[in-house]
Amino acid sequence: MIAGNEDDDVDLDENAPRADASGVIRMPATLEATGPVPERCEIAIIGGGVVGLAIAYYLASLDVTDVVVIERGYLAEGASGRNGGGVRQQWSTEINIRLMQESVELCRRFAVDVGVNVWFRQGGYLFLARSAKEVARLEKNIDLQNRCGVATRMLAPEKAQDIVPELDLTGIVGASFNPSDGILFPWPFLWGYARQAAAMGARIFTQTPVHGLEPAAGGGYVVHTTRGNVRARRVINATGSWSPLVAKHIGVEVPTWPIRHEICSSEPLKPFLRPMVSELASGLYCSQSMRGEIVGGVTVPGHGSTYGMGSTLEFLATYARRLTRLMPILGDIKILRQWAGPYDQSPDGNPILGPAPGHPDFFLACGFVGHGFMMAPIVGKLYAEWLAGGEPHEIFSRYTLSRFTDGSGSSHPKEDFNIG
Ligand SMILES: Cc1cc2nc3c(=O)[nH]c(=O)nc-3n(C[C@H](O)[C@H](O)[C@H](O)COP(=O)(O)OP(=O)(O)OC[C@H]3O[C@@H](n4cnc5c(N)ncnc54)[C@H](O)[C@@H]3O)c2cc1C
Repeated sequence: MIAGNEDDDVDLDENAPRADASGVIRMPATLEATGPVPERCEIAIIGGGVVGLAIAYYLASLDVTDVVVIERGYLAEGASGRNGGGVRQQWSTEINIRLMQESVELCRRFAVDVGVNVWFRQGGYLFLARSAKEVARLEKNIDLQNRCGVATRMLAPEKAQDIVPELDLTGIVGASFNPSDGILFPWPFLWGYARQAAAMGARIFTQTPVHGLEPAAGGGYVVHTTRGNVRARRVINATGSWSPLVAKHIGVEVPTWPIRHEICSSEPLKPFLRPMVSELASGLYCSQSMRGEIVGGVTVPGHGSTYGMGSTLEFLATYARRLTRLMPILGDIKILRQWAGPYDQSPDGNPILGPAPGHPDFFLACGFVGHGFMMAPIVGKLYAEWLAGGEPHEIFSRYTLSRFTDGSGSSHPKEDFNIG
């Protein structure tokens, strides 16, 4: 502190956590650790997206704080800072429905648990069907969701219009709606996890690319970074679409590939749209943010695998056509911003978790395709509980890397609702 009027005191130690009057620890604006990485740590998490930070936060909550998070850019640089913030429990397999029930609960409690408002709003998810086949698919899923305790219901088109009066029902033959699905604002989610993990002792290094990884003599790994090397007893690869590149350093092949997914945001409008609306046939989805913008995207197939994150006119034209067909009232709105991010596509659309074969201390947390944000809270929590000494949850024997080579993946029901 510098001397002077008490009210004007300035804390010169930027990295010192401080408590407010209520005793709540507040981290400084620059929460990232500076200087070299430590020589050793218990757990190194590579990747400061929502998945890596969720694991770090839940580990710290369980007093596992000798943890280093290494992010090559800034927090939210990857897919986690570029997504639509949709959180849904409408899935086609019991394991994913149940995971997402728990994730929704964690999202609901986020502001209380983590101390940051992520603007989580449960306005529901409305899926629209344009064919009898799509209706049958929704009905089958609803049956399972209801058995799991998720209150999704099938709606006639007119009932869907009760929820979103602006819909043009031409060609719509049915819809599914679960009122407790929702949307959130992604960025503060990452800041909240990072801030609390750091306040509890985890060290988060941004602007720190990992450029090498090798098994250490005597166990663990040496992680090579631009801030020096850290020897970690365990390493978690949470680098999203870049996971194959990181795993390759130790000869582990991760069979995921990046797909550019585009999205855009309109000028703010008076609030009128409560649910996330998604059209099955085209992959169109849109929601209205708390600030009033219509945020949405659509599938534009045929671009192959790429790390490119440029924006295209083709996307904008496709989105505009689909959106205004569904909600003609939006025909005059202005699109203010367009961007893209990578889907970390796995062969079966499910994540890849647990240790890599032959590497019991090298863990994977990747392959989340277009739903890693909504799964991060529960996956982060379950991962942390396991690494802190608890029993591994079923996801760690189900969503293994080896399922793609030993055939174990085919013995479970296939998730076929990897959309929107
Ligand atoms: C347009 C779009 C819309 C989406 N909509 C939704 C949605 O509505 N709901 C939902 O749940 N999900 C959605 N997703 C998917 C979701 O965003 C991702 O699944 C999720 O963010 C993945 O998080 P992650 O932490 O695994 O990866 P990322 O957020 O990509 O984080 C990985 C991090 O690793 C870092 N990294 C990479 N290489 C290195 C290295 N060598 N050294 C150090 N750091 C490295 C990257 O910089 C990055 O920050 C969407 C995705 C996109 C692109």
